[in-house]
Amino acid sequence: MLEDEGESGKITLEEKIEGFSDSYVDFIENCKTETEVVAYLREKLRAFRYKSLDEFTTLPYGSFFFQELGNRALIAGSIGKDVFNDGFRILASHIDSPRVDLKPKPLYEDSDTGIALMKTQYYGGIKKYQWVNVPLALHGQAVLKSGEVISIRLGDKRSEPVFVMPDLLPHLAKKQFKRQLEEGIEGEEMNLIVGTSAGNAEKDPVKSNVLALLKQKYGIEEEDLASADLSLVPAFGPRYSGFDNSMIAGYGHDDRASAFTTFRALLENSGARYSSLAIFYDKEEIGGYGISGSMSNMIESTVHSILRKVGPDYSMADFYKVLRNSRAISADVDSAMDPSFKDVHDDHNAARMGKGIVIAKYTGYGGKYSGSEAPSEYVAHIRKVLSDKGVKYQFGTMGKVDEGGGGTVAQDIARYGIPVIDAGPPVLGMHSPYELVSKKDLYESYLAYLAFLTEV
Ligand code: MN
Ligand code: MN
Repeated sequence: MLEDEGESGKITLEEKIEGFSDSYVDFIENCKTETEVVAYLREKLRAFRYKSLDEFTTLPYGSFFFQELGNRALIAGSIGKDVFNDGFRILASHIDSPRVDLKPKPLYEDSDTGIALMKTQYYGGIKKYQWVNVPLALHGQAVLKSGEVISIRLGDKRSEPVFVMPDLLPHLAKKQFKRQLEEGIEGEEMNLIVGTSAGNAEKDPVKSNVLALLKQKYGIEEEDLASADLSLVPAFGPRYSGFDNSMIAGYGHDDRASAFTTFRALLENSGARYSSLAIFYDKEEIGGYGISGSMSNMIESTVHSILRKVGPDYSMADFYKVLRNSRAISADVDSAMDPSFKDVHDDHNAARMGKGIVIAKYTGYGGKYSGSEAPSEYVAHIRKVLSDKGVKYQFGTMGKVDEGGGGTVAQDIARYGIPVIDAGPPVLGMHSPYELVSKKDLYESYLAYLAFLTEV
């Protein structure tokens, strides 16, 4: 349930922030992959009067709908008073996070050591050395030739085994210490230990034993691991952090912090003038490619399906007008100024943790390459929307101009002629197995997204 906003006004802001943080912690504890987020959203949306787009023949004012894209991405929204003239208010976040995937042929036995291992390939921009010697859980699915989907989730509970990719002991790391940090752990050294007990087979007895256990527990064979999406994610859960409990430490704030705050803003948004779309993309961490990413035709095809149900005779001119009159926020986390690595930030333009949602006028790197920049008129509009509702916000750029950078889904939305700006909570330790976000910033992000959806 949503927290009682308390018409009597008896609930203090601090209590609202605590309640909101509790719900968020439950969410990220249970949803560690895009598929798990989609399952969560589907269930909650149904409970809050949303129905699948296919269930509607017409979409009058006040319809609440959602559309899933292959269990990995989802669009939810509502119809406002005049979608053909007003367009949509779009909040676009992503629900994939950096992690370590299994290769299609992962399992092998090192006969010399009698250890069965699985080969991995990391997903997204990680610092590889952060992912060794941490407890990992296996999440995902294997699909049999029959099409049957076998869900796997192993390692989150105390009673379940976790998996570890061991690093070299320091006693013998004299040469490894001389490597550049980037090569401290190489991709092909990220091998997961999965067993040491030998079965009766003559060839590869440890690997054979693991295969027998996989068959027994999940009914899968070695080749089924090739038709699988299996990911290793941190096995530990989120926790409040700091003596003052002001932060949340957890895996995947990027970008489930924005996805959750978007989702909660969406649920609060009823009877608004504007039509809304909340897009939960997959594949952002690898550039938006693929059928569930922001470079797919998800926006066109969904907007088309929606408009056909609002006004079946609509024209291509209407379609483009709807897109042109839409407004978007790319809801994604930003970097918080790191007090121990200040030299990578432009002190004057860096976002500070605890100071509210970060608005990034532009993303990209160097000379603003490969990013998206919001026009000044649109930045002014967003300032007004947020300040009118008393939302705490700050402007920020990711780091020093020549230090690095990054992109979001914003440029893929801008392609449709939709003004778009990046805004999300600042995060410390981004893309690590345990990121930090401020409870206050999380709540201000929710308020910002709600103000955007409910502007008048
Ligand atoms: Mn992100
Ligand atoms: Mn990211």
